[in-house]
Amino acid sequence: MPIFDIDYILALGRNDRCWCGSKLKFKRCHKDREHEKPLSLGEKLAFGNNISKRETCYAPKSLLPDCNKVIKSHTISKSSTLKSIADSTNHVLGLKQNLSNFQKNKENLRFEKIGINNASTFKGFCKKHDKLLFSCFEDKPFLGTKEQCIALTYRSVAKEIYAKEEAIEAAKFMRRNADRGKSIFFQIIIQKDIYPYKLGSEMALSELYKIKSNLDAELSNNSNDSYNFLVIESASPLPIVVSSITNPTHNFKDEHLQDLASLEEVAEQLVFNAFTSKRKGFVVFSWLKKAEVIDKFINSLLEINKKDMFSYLVNFFFSSAENTFISPDWWNTLSTEQQQKIEALFKVGSNYTEERPRNVLADNSITFAGWEIENLYRVT
Ligand SMILES: [Zn+2]
Ligand SMILES: [Zn+2]
Repeated sequence: MPIFDIDYILALGRNDRCWCGSKLKFKRCHKDREHEKPLSLGEKLAFGNNISKRETCYAPKSLLPDCNKVIKSHTISKSSTLKSIADSTNHVLGLKQNLSNFQKNKENLRFEKIGINNASTFKGFCKKHDKLLFSCFEDKPFLGTKEQCIALTYRSVAKEIYAKEEAIEAAKFMRRNADRGKSIFFQIIIQKDIYPYKLGSEMALSELYKIKSNLDAELSNNSNDSYNFLVIESASPLPIVVSSITNPTHNFKDEHLQDLASLEEVAEQLVFNAFTSKRKGFVVFSWLKKAEVIDKFINSLLEINKKDMFSYLVNFFFSSAENTFISPDWWNTLSTEQQQKIEALFKVGSNYTEERPRNVLADNSITFAGWEIENLYRVT
């Protein structure tokens, strides 16, 4: 545990454990950091470049001996989904993933135009296994089969693992470098910012590894029976696409579901995807059958009138995920008030260190249109 106390730090001996929580000796960590050369933009960029080259294959362990070349996978399908929301220049709106967006102060977050070739990519599967695992929904129309739902879920979890592993590397890099050349006072402020982010990412990652090993077993045995799925569909594409995983604390009626701060209980997870397949729009929720907390969440969604549901989904998507992309054409049809609401929701969704404010999902004072839900069914 780090100790952010200036008197404690000033009294540290060379061989004592460093105050920052790195587990290194003080002399090998923060001693004299105020005299080091400050972190340069070039170093930040080099780190970002390096980490974006990271390649791995998250296929189930039993398949790994057969891996071939790792490819740039899209966590959200480019050919069908991203294209369906792109503007005439093939751009979507979203948040660029880079080191400066990692920092805690997200007050200035703005959606940026991103070319669909670069939106939402990760090097998390080899070519062979990407095809093997995901062609069931990438190359065929989505029909809500169990096989398609579980594959979709698997990719979301793998993407999240990749992102969290990256976040931890970024946090380590920042812990070692961000406070170089700063006074002890500022070192404390900076380390205080990084610490909960790193801790939160590590906790989330260990939970994700468990989820993945469970899914690995399902895929390897072809059992597919520990998950529930809810599919919502419409004849037209959604103006928002997303692929992520979250642990809801409240449902759509603002009823409390679970505490994220509890150390005894592991928070239940909900995987969600919004995408296009053959010009139809889909939202798919996936959760473990034993996750009763998530049942309550889904039930509160199902109580909402179909014609109002899209608006509540907007609340949910933006307040729960960073990996969200918007149709620029749809964005331009929104009023300033609506755009501001989405930006505010997005700040909630990209803040890892503070608890979500209550009532985020239930607040329907500003509503959205743009997707009419036609059909809704469970896959069990
Ligand atoms: Zn240190
Ligand atoms: Zn592979």
